[in-house]
Amino acid sequence: MSFTAAIIGRPNVGKSTLFNRLVGAKIALVDDTPGVTRDRRPGEARIGDLYFTIIDTAGLEEADPASLEGRMRAQTEAAIAEADVSLFLIDARVGVTPVDEHFADLLRRVGKPVVLIANKAEGKVGEEGVMEAYSLGFGEPVAISAEHGQGMADLFNALLPFEIRAEETDEEEGEDEVLIGPDGEEIFPEIDPAKPIKVAIVGRPNAGKSTLINTMLGEERLLTGPEAGITRDSISVDWVWRDRRINLFDTAGMRKKARVEQKLEKLSVGDALRSIRFAEVVVLMLDATMPFEKQDLQIADLVAREGRALVIALNKWDLIEDRQKAMADLREMAERLLPQVRGVPLVPLSGLTGSGIDKLMTELMKVYATWNRRVPTAALNKWLAGVLEHHPPPAVSGRRIKLRYMTQHKARPPTFVAFCSRPEALPEAYTRYLVNGLREAFDLTAVPLRLIMRKGE
Ligand code: GDP
Ligand code: GDP
Repeated sequence: MSFTAAIIGRPNVGKSTLFNRLVGAKIALVDDTPGVTRDRRPGEARIGDLYFTIIDTAGLEEADPASLEGRMRAQTEAAIAEADVSLFLIDARVGVTPVDEHFADLLRRVGKPVVLIANKAEGKVGEEGVMEAYSLGFGEPVAISAEHGQGMADLFNALLPFEIRAEETDEEEGEDEVLIGPDGEEIFPEIDPAKPIKVAIVGRPNAGKSTLINTMLGEERLLTGPEAGITRDSISVDWVWRDRRINLFDTAGMRKKARVEQKLEKLSVGDALRSIRFAEVVVLMLDATMPFEKQDLQIADLVAREGRALVIALNKWDLIEDRQKAMADLREMAERLLPQVRGVPLVPLSGLTGSGIDKLMTELMKVYATWNRRVPTAALNKWLAGVLEHHPPPAVSGRRIKLRYMTQHKARPPTFVAFCSRPEALPEAYTRYLVNGLREAFDLTAVPLRLIMRKGE
């Protein structure tokens, strides 16, 4: 199913810090003091919707100095052997040291895949170290800051091919999900209408989330206004809209916490993340009288990064006077401020009166379908052929970059893989051009869309 990665590198480059960030729990200890024993359990790691197993080799520096090198090598070799890919860390602030080169040699000898990571790359201090890392001969380093969580999207892109490989291996073993029809076309499983759709309504405090949920449920399940919050145990409530089961993330837990802290001025990112991760479709609720504030944009960005489908609800529409103008302004803002979810539907509504809820649900069903969509390989490649004819990739260092083939690797969100002669040289702008083209050609709006370039002739 998924793959295993080993974190490799000399002491103090930030292996435990990265491990903790990816596993999300304080399993490995980070400590500057020598002699701290560390636990080398494998962890279940996650970046966005990419799940994998991670082996930490931190703590080797505490070994008896006399046998340090030998033990380090044995442990590291064991980890590399067990893993599908090694995450080779260097410290961008220090640059490449002889010990790093020693590890590089070891990794080269084993000959398994390596993703080179230049850690501690936050700020300017690390820039030179990132450049230096090229000299290790593992291609372009992924610059990250394990401590500050920067560069995780790049690390995601670097690791996604390993998930694809793992799934391809599964398919060879007969777990193929794709069925082939009578004319050789691919048939994909339909959305199961009996399965509830998981929906979370997320937004700043006072946007009107509880009011809307109350109206939807038709009863005072959640309390609104300034009174004390109520306690609930379950994290979701069931609701049925036109025979379709909806599983609504219950914000009561959040609200209870908010009461304790005197109704938060700011939305806590942790709470937002929890709801977003629960959901398949996220309704970002804006207060239409003060739309697209910084936090609203942050939530939309989180939704995109977590790979969920998005609908924007413009609440308190009953308070808007010139609705036509407001709508035009809001549309313009959405297109400008949220390019990562181009075409996201904006639904005016009033949680108080209930007007607009039907429209919200209709749009929600549409983006849910898009999020689940599978584009047949034949159609994709027909489209790609047209693109290559009219706007081929540029030549880089005098050589043309060839794109040969494209396939949809998975849905939820739609993720495509293209095979490219030199993926590392393909300009980012060209990838963006392809992504925008895919969106338009196959009507893939309001969902994050991923395109991975893989090396292949
Ligand atoms: P390990 O020995 O490779 O496991 O390294 P640790 O994870 O214990 O980190 C060593 C030191 O580097 C600790 O003081 C960390 O706080 C620090 N560190 C880790 N990641 C970063 C980072 O991204 N930026 C900076 N500035 N320091 C970091
Ligand atoms: P939450 O913090 O996002 O759950 O927001 P609440 O549901 O508690 O609503 C905050 C305030 O906005 C309350 O005073 C609501 O009565 C008010 N409110 C919510 N929805 C609407 C609406 O559609 N129109 C108007 N005019 N007020 C609303």
